Parts: sequence; C-alpha cells; structure tokens
Amino acid sequence: MPTMEILGQQEAIKKLDAELISGTLSHAYMIWGPPGSGRAMLAKGLAVAANCTGRADMPAESLRGLWHCGKCRNCAKLLSDAHPDYAVVRPEGASIGIDEVREMQSRISLRPGESHLKTWVIEDAHAMTEPAQNCLLKVLEEPPGHALIILLLDDEDMVLPTIASRCHSVRLGTVDRATLVDWGQRELGLSAERAATLAALSGGLPGRMARLANDPAYFKLRGEILSTVRGVMWCGDGGKALAASERLMRIFRNPRAEADAADGVEGAEDDDAAESAAGKEGKASRTGKASKASKASANSSEAASIRKPRGACDLIASYMRDALTLSLGGGRDMLINADLADELEQDAGRGQPEQFKRWAERCIDTGEAVDANANVQLALDALMLQFALPMLC
Ligand SMILES: [Zn+2]
Repeated sequence: MPTMEILGQQEAIKKLDAELISGTLSHAYMIWGPPGSGRAMLAKGLAVAANCTGRADMPAESLRGLWHCGKCRNCAKLLSDAHPDYAVVRPEGASIGIDEVREMQSRISLRPGESHLKTWVIEDAHAMTEPAQNCLLKVLEEPPGHALIILLLDDEDMVLPTIASRCHSVRLGTVDRATLVDWGQRELGLSAERAATLAALSGGLPGRMARLANDPAYFKLRGEILSTVRGVMWCGDGGKALAASERLMRIFRNPRAEADAADGVEGAEDDDAAESAAGKEGKASRTGKASKASKASANSSEAASIRKPRGACDLIASYMRDALTLSLGGGRDMLINADLADELEQDAGRGQPEQFKRWAERCIDTGEAVDANANVQLALDALMLQFALPMLC
C-alpha cells in the first residue's frame, strides 16, 4: 500500500501524520520552502491521505507516511488529477489577483460532491496581491467545515501575518548532498558521477536536481556563458570585454531557444512536475513520474533561468564563489560547479581570493541591478570590464 516519501522531508510528513491520526487536521496549511523542495507533492499527499476511505479500516500504526490505499475512488481520482473536489490556483502572469481568490471563495463554500473535504491548493501563494490576500483572509476566518486550504510558498513571512497565523505552518528544508547522490542513482537512474554533479548544482533541492537531469540545454548554455566569461578574465583588452558582453546579450535575446530544442515536446508543467519527481508514490506512479519530469524539461526552467540576465549573473557568481573556495584551499567536494573542477583549479591558480570575492560580489550586485531595471547592456559591459581589467576597476 502506498506511503509517501518526499526526500528529506520526514519531519513534515510526521507532523501531518500526527494531525491526521489524531483527527486534528486544520482547515488551512502553509507549506513553505524553496521551489523544488516538494511542496506541491506534499500538498497532494495530504489531500489524498485526508480523503482516502481505505484508511478507516487500518490500525493507526499502519497509517504513517500519509498512507493511502491507492484503490478507493478518492485515491484513484486524486492521483490521476481528476477529482472534482480538488483544485489548484496558480499565478497567471506575475500575481494571483482577487478575482481568482473570489472564485475560490464562492466555490469552496459549496459542499464537496464526492469526498468529505474540498481541497484548494494555492501555488506560489506569496504572489497573491494584497486585495487577494484580504479576500482569502475572510475565508480563513470562517472556513467551511469541509474546507482544506493549502498555501504553497517560498517563505512563511511572505504573506500577511493575519493569514500566516490562521494556517498550520509546515516547513520544508533542503536535502544534504550525500542523500541526494544516493537518491539520484536510485530514483533517477543516474551514474554516481552524474548524481554527484547534479546534487552539487541543485543547492539541496531534489526537484531542481530532477529538472537538471532532464535538461541538456542547461549545460550547453552554462558552458557558453562561463566560457565567455573565462575568455575575458585578466585579458587586459577592453574591446574583448565589450564583445563578450554583446555575446551574452545575444543569448538573452533568444528566450525561446530551450523550447525549440525540446524536440517538440510541449511543456508547461514547471515546478509541479519536477516536484513530483522529488517524491515517490509507491511503484504504481513511478512511470508517470518519469514522464512528467521529462515533460517539465521541455519547459527547461533551469536553462531558461540562466538565459535571463539575473540568472546568468547568479551563475557567474557561483563560478567565482567556487574559484574563491579553491583559492582558499577548499576541496573539490565543496564546489557547486563540481563538474568544472579542472577549469576552476586553473582559474583559481591565476588569481587571489580577494579578487574572486570581489568578482562574486560584483556579479550579485549586477544581477540585483538588472532586476531593479538597470540598463542590462551597460551593467554587463561594466561587469565584463571588471573581469578583463581587474587592476583598473
Ligand atoms: Zn484510498
């Protein structure tokens, strides 16, 4: 019988198990942690366990891990995303507006048709506008007895405190590297070396690791960006620096490149699918999980993220941070870009720690500046000139 595992999130699952078993389930939850940590997966798991009719026949000690029978009508429909009493609200564009929350407000007040709970998941709940949050607050103040509202967000302080105080808070954290390497080999079928590379790059996020495993475009683009930067470091040639900046600008002007390279697979599943890959739902759904993850890769959110100026600056900063680590005597096992250890060692041997530290900081500053609407071309020109002529800048 299926139980739920989400890599590294046993504490969160234990907390929800205890509430389900003791009958103290809340009407509202806030599941928060970085994207890729398994938020959507856990929300679905909670809804399935809370509505599974097979649980009634089981002794309490068998119900751990958000146990569900996998066979009853609620399980079948929820697991195949076809349950009429389960709905997801996502940002359309940059935010979730009051209209979407009002619609939820009117629909959640109606009794559920098939299960005893009506579940509403709000993804990226931090994207709710203030009027939308105030509207949600009214629902949370007097939730219908059958309501299960689950907010998914990056950080608990990103919604109004009045909302946070009405939700049970469930925090998801990052996963250590060794656990990710082991999981990558077991669940994603990666070689030990590849698993180690992706675990290092993932920042402790299994969802991100699953996306990277299916995203060759990311590695191609990362290589292009970093070789452009490496080509100008200490070169002493301002013209070459400006040409490098222009090369990066050309990369940013081609935002659909990943979709074109994705072999005609339609992709719009984003984090959700990759988060599914980060958990497992018994053997039955593993095939579906794999296909969902590869579908997510078509959208190439990892490649797409470094094709934007901010993402590229963060990437270059991570390279400089790695060079700093090595120049301070740190080991290869501490690198984020572990697969580029040879290049990094070469670069680390050419400069001083202070230099790499300054460059990493400049990358982060540049990323923040372009996010705040600075002129991208000028900001990149300045950054490349820093790399080319460090003694003058
Ligand atoms: Zn069931």
